[in-house]
Amino acid sequence: MVSTPFNNHNLVVVISGPSGCGKSTVVKTLCKLDETLRLSISATTRTPRPGEVDGKNYHFMTHTQFENQINEDVFLEWAKYRDNYYGTLKSEINTSQQEGKDTILEIEVNGALQIKKQDLTPARCILIFLVPASFAILEKRLRSRKTESEIELTNRLEIAKTELKQIKHYNYCVINPQNQHKKAAHQILSIITAERSRINPELTPAFVKSFGIHNK
Ligand code: 5GP
Repeated sequence: MVSTPFNNHNLVVVISGPSGCGKSTVVKTLCKLDETLRLSISATTRTPRPGEVDGKNYHFMTHTQFENQINEDVFLEWAKYRDNYYGTLKSEINTSQQEGKDTILEIEVNGALQIKKQDLTPARCILIFLVPASFAILEKRLRSRKTESEIELTNRLEIAKTELKQIKHYNYCVINPQNQHKKAAHQILSIITAERSRINPELTPAFVKSFGIHNK
């Protein structure tokens, strides 16, 4: 279980970072390090990349389907990124809570800032920004994965600059050095471990019961 007698909040861990900074690899490694972390599967209107599976990498849907889902208020947050919709389903957080797990959201900045504004009680959100060691490394990584055309690539790099400006709204920054995704994953896990130990100002009933101390 994630909660202890000293705190009763599940965490929603938002991880953002510019496209190509190695976020997905770091997040995958992170989830392997700790089985009480559950990666949320987002919905998107983007076309699947080779090897991507519906329901595993994303819930792929049409623009109309996505807009209908917006109207049905199923999203915790959603944003447009390069003409496509991306969104986190509220049900993803509920599932994690039912399973007693903390949720990892790998999402872009606009969605992250929407989440920051919300009261997620009984969950609590922390925002982590993953950055490459330099902009040159980011460009090199994006080019080497060969999944984007030159125009898309330029566009993603421009978005990256805009996103990096928003780092001030995040709680933590983790650098993802080249070929060292394990190091970055361990650093994020340390942050999560510290956050799990954060004391809840309201003593939980479990704490009061086990130590016989009262709130007043
Ligand atoms: P990609 O097309 O490379 O898979 O994702 C593009 C961007 O959308 C990435 O920065 C990714 O983190 C972000 N993203 C993925 N899922 C979501 C989501 O549910 N909400 C938001 N706001 N962004 C998302």
